[in-house]
Amino acid sequence: MLEKILSELQPTKTLLVAVSKTKSAETIREFYDAGQRDFGENYVQELTLKAAILPKDIRWHFIGHLQSNKVKSIAPFIHLIHTVDSLSLLAEIDKQARKYNRVINCLLQFKINEEETKSGLPESEIANFFDSEIFRQAKHVRLVGVMGMSTFTDDNNQITNEFRKLRSLFEMVRSKYYPDDEEFREISMGMSDDYKIAVKDGSTMVRVGSLLFGKR
Ligand SMILES: *Cc1c(COP(=O)(O)O)cnc(C)c1O
Repeated sequence: MLEKILSELQPTKTLLVAVSKTKSAETIREFYDAGQRDFGENYVQELTLKAAILPKDIRWHFIGHLQSNKVKSIAPFIHLIHTVDSLSLLAEIDKQARKYNRVINCLLQFKINEEETKSGLPESEIANFFDSEIFRQAKHVRLVGVMGMSTFTDDNNQITNEFRKLRSLFEMVRSKYYPDDEEFREISMGMSDDYKIAVKDGSTMVRVGSLLFGKR
């Protein structure tokens, strides 16, 4: 399955983030031995335990809801945080990254779905976010793109519309706040059930779990 998905992502050079939450270190190791280096995790404690015993060249992506008081545990090593959706979280990541003399790459998570969840910045908050003093002062965080999750539905039209919405938010933020910045370029969208749709609509990284590892 790994080879099949990689070959599907090859034409668009979309990155595969293998979502290994709840899976054992041994299982991750098998995928590592097959060449996979980018892994996504949702829970801080689970991630830090795995990161401690697995090879150091794994690029760990944090894709779950991140509580501010847990940022310090992942700040020394995290490769990319996909789920920044508030200024208070941004400020905490900046503070912890500074301690380790790092600049941590992050994605701004937008709410594009109709789920009850509160995760994701609403579109109406974009100007507040970027015009804030907190954002301007956060020298140890680099925003490199956006992330979103579609509604859990089998209506492919709805999913397509939500991914297009995320892409248009990405383009709007890029043109307004990162006009000459090549590093602002990532659109993290697509999971096991909808990554093919996401790739058609411009995803640069898909987060695939159950299709690779089996159901949780
Ligand atoms: C669990 C999870 C995934 C992977 O979901 P699958 O349907 O197993 O591919 C992707 N993104 C996020 C944010 C997740 O929490």
